[in-house]
Amino acid sequence: MADINGLYRSLLAADEAGDAAALAALAWQMYGQLRNVNQDSGRNVMNDARTASAPSARYAVPAVLELRGVSKVYGSGPAEVHALRQADLSVQAGSMVAVMGPSGSGKSTLLTIAGSLEDPTSGEVLVGGVPLAGMSRGAKARLRRRTIGYVFQDFNLLPGLTAAENVALPLELDGVPVRRARAAGLRALDGLGLADRANRYPDQLSGGERQRVAIARAVAGERRLLLADEPSGALDSANGETVIGLIRAACRQGMAAVVVTHDAQLASLADRVVYLRDGQLADQTVPGRGREPLLETGGNR
Ligand code: ADP
Repeated sequence: MADINGLYRSLLAADEAGDAAALAALAWQMYGQLRNVNQDSGRNVMNDARTASAPSARYAVPAVLELRGVSKVYGSGPAEVHALRQADLSVQAGSMVAVMGPSGSGKSTLLTIAGSLEDPTSGEVLVGGVPLAGMSRGAKARLRRRTIGYVFQDFNLLPGLTAAENVALPLELDGVPVRRARAAGLRALDGLGLADRANRYPDQLSGGERQRVAIARAVAGERRLLLADEPSGALDSANGETVIGLIRAACRQGMAAVVVTHDAQLASLADRVVYLRDGQLADQTVPGRGREPLLETGGNR
C-alpha cells in the first residue's frame, strides 16, 4: 500500500494547493493502484477511497466519466437531428449505469461520445476529470486503447485469433511487450472463468463464452471505463444475466461501466438506470429505491 499512501499524500498536497489538474491526474493514478490492490485482495476498496479516506468536503475524486450539458446535432436544416440534448451524466469508479430508451433515442450516440469516438456539438466530456476537448488526437487514441474498454452486441472477436490472442491484442497494439500482454490477457480470461478456453478460436466457443472473452478484452490491462452496447442482446436470458453479472464484478474491482440495454430486468442489476427519450435524459432511477418512475416512462420498451 506504500504507493497508494504516497499518492494519497501528493493528492492531499495538490488539494491544499488548489491545483485541480494535478488533483485529477493523481486521483486517476490512484484508481489504477486501487484496481491492482483490489484484484489482489478481491475486496472493493473504491467506496473507502471515495468516502472514508476523504479528508475534507473540499476533496472529491473526479468521476471516471462525466458528461456536462452534452448535445449532439447531426445534419443541418430540415435534415437536422438532435441525437442528444443537454445530457448530464456522472459515473464514478466502482459504479455501473444502465442506459435505456427506445430506438433512436440517442443511446449509441451517448456511448460513442463518452468513448471519444465522436465530439459533441456542445457541452463537455471529461474522463478521469480531464476534458476530452483539450486532448490531441493522439492522446484520445491512447485513452481509447488504454483506459476505455468496449463490448458490443456482436462480440467483435477476430476469428483467426484464439481467445487469449484476442484479449491480448489491444495491449500488444498499445506497445505492451507480447509476454506481458499475454499474461494480462490470461489473467483477465481466468477472472472470467475462461482459463481453459484460452487457446480456442471464437468458432469453438459458445455465444456466452464469446461475450465473456469480449468482456475480458475490455477489462484487461489498466482500463477504467467500460462501455457496452447491448452486451446481452445476442444471448439468451441466462447468459445475458451472466454477462451483466461479470460487468458488475468488473465494477466491484474499480471500473466504471455504462451499459446500454433494452432489458429492464438486466438494467435493474445496475447501480443506476438512466432513461433516454428523444436525446434527453428523461429519468434517473436507483434500482431498489424507487424503480416506479422508470417503469411509468416506459422503460420496458
Ligand atoms: P439509439 O442508439 O438509441 O437507437 P442513436 O444514438 O443511434 O439512437 O441515434 C439517435 C438519433 O440520431 C437517431 O435519430 C439517428 O437516426 C440519429 N443519428 C445517429 N447517428 C447519426 C449519424 N451519423 N448521422 C445522422 N444521424 C444520426
